Amino acid sequence: MSLSDPDARSMATTLRMPRVVGYNVQTAVEAENHLIVAHEVTMQGYDRDALSMMAVAARDAMAPDQIEAIADKGYYKSEEILACEQAGTEVVVPKPQTSNAGARGQFDKADFAYDAETDVYVCPAGEHLIYRFTGRQDGKAIRTYWSSECEGFVIKDKCTNSKERRIRRWEHKNVLERVQQRLDKDPTQLAVRSMTVEHAYGTIKSWMGATHFKMRKLKNVATEMALHVLAYNMTRVMKIIGIPTLIAAMRA
Ligand code: SF4
Repeated sequence: MSLSDPDARSMATTLRMPRVVGYNVQTAVEAENHLIVAHEVTMQGYDRDALSMMAVAARDAMAPDQIEAIADKGYYKSEEILACEQAGTEVVVPKPQTSNAGARGQFDKADFAYDAETDVYVCPAGEHLIYRFTGRQDGKAIRTYWSSECEGFVIKDKCTNSKERRIRRWEHKNVLERVQQRLDKDPTQLAVRSMTVEHAYGTIKSWMGATHFKMRKLKNVATEMALHVLAYNMTRVMKIIGIPTLIAAMRA
């Protein structure tokens, strides 16, 4: 609990520690001129629920039919990526490594190739893991696959300690696979994200100084941030097109 600001929350600055008590500022920055096209101050201690909200806000502000949203791995959440796709916005976001199989010296899920045409997974031994049933996990429909050939297989120890290796697949996994394909096609997109959004953040943070927000409570902090964004965008536009052109455009 923050004794000086009832709206401030503990922020997950890393997955474990340390934490900062404050606010979470979400921004969408366009890649050509580095203007902030959408921003939001939230009390959420993490980013993973913000992807579709920011991608849709950025698309609406920029007005083109199609934008590509690039985010860091803190934004990787299946439901959020699906919501972006359903809203017509393609996303590029790297998947965090969560499987321990590789560390245990066992085959990782990535070692199993999915064949969409036949709806089977092919394991490292070349066996087919076929669809068995659909269950629900955290509200998501999960399809489960396995092979009947696992038992007695010579490399089974490298794969599973159970009777057979089971692979689970979210019903919308194809959306996540498309995200990975976009990233594989052009891994430099992640560098574009850093160069774009960190330019805006670095500039504003240096203006703010070490203590960042001067205000307290969400509404006031949101206003303070909006003024920072306005100042940043105005400064950028003045640098890019010049003050006379900007004044003429504002009068038009
Ligand atoms: S244990 Fe089963 S899934 Fe794993 S490599 Fe062997 S046959 Fe394939």
